Amino acid sequence: MLDIVPLQALKDNYIWTLRNATHAAVVDPGEARPVLEYLAREKLQLAAILATHHHPDHVGGIPQLLEKHRVPVYGPKGEPIATLTHPIAEGDSVRIPELGVTLSVLDIPGHTRAHVAYYGVESLFCGDTLFACGCGRLFEGTAEQMMSSLAKLAALPDATRVYCGHEYTLANIAFAQEVEPANAALAARLARDRRLRADGKPTLPSTLGEERATNPFLRCREPAVVDSANKYLGARISDPVRVFAAIREWKNRF
Ligand SMILES: [Zn+2]
Repeated sequence: MLDIVPLQALKDNYIWTLRNATHAAVVDPGEARPVLEYLAREKLQLAAILATHHHPDHVGGIPQLLEKHRVPVYGPKGEPIATLTHPIAEGDSVRIPELGVTLSVLDIPGHTRAHVAYYGVESLFCGDTLFACGCGRLFEGTAEQMMSSLAKLAALPDATRVYCGHEYTLANIAFAQEVEPANAALAARLARDRRLRADGKPTLPSTLGEERATNPFLRCREPAVVDSANKYLGARISDPVRVFAAIREWKNRF
């Protein structure tokens, strides 16, 4: 049976680990140590490494993992990741026979120029693009690109589990409440996720249904979000890309 386990890495990264009784694949190993320790403790063999984008906190552990495990390394064709053995892009799929899993690749540029997501087994591994109640910063892409990447992810089924790269949820919810103070689903999410963090548990995965109900970056057509963006800008805009750009900039300063 397939299980998906978070390994904590660096300050607030998660290395998502897909595993069965004998094998494991890891997504975005920013460090090798937590993965090597987990594999040894659970007596698992590494089957594959998947990277969503080139930032060191997502790929920094790959060289050390490859010293011990000769496995395929999947990652975006359009980004400088020296260790890739299988450069991929949208339309490709990643088959991990040891786990009986096939994931499809989606191009989701915006945070970086060729960021990808992996989707399958009702699960989405989306790195630093869609966060729980937030989204990644625009380092190498435009607001328009990020918005269409988020729209592509938001079109997946409600029950899709969202496995993103960082534990940023409580801070993201605090910002989302500034944008949409009257959103009752947000208040409920805050209460639940505070309890999870108080118990030392991840707030992830969330579901896409929850993200659509609470994530301001997926709600740029909601009147309350548009109003808040206008207050922030001191202007009157309604174009969703401009609303998105405004709340992304506001979040950067929050
Ligand atoms: Zn990143």
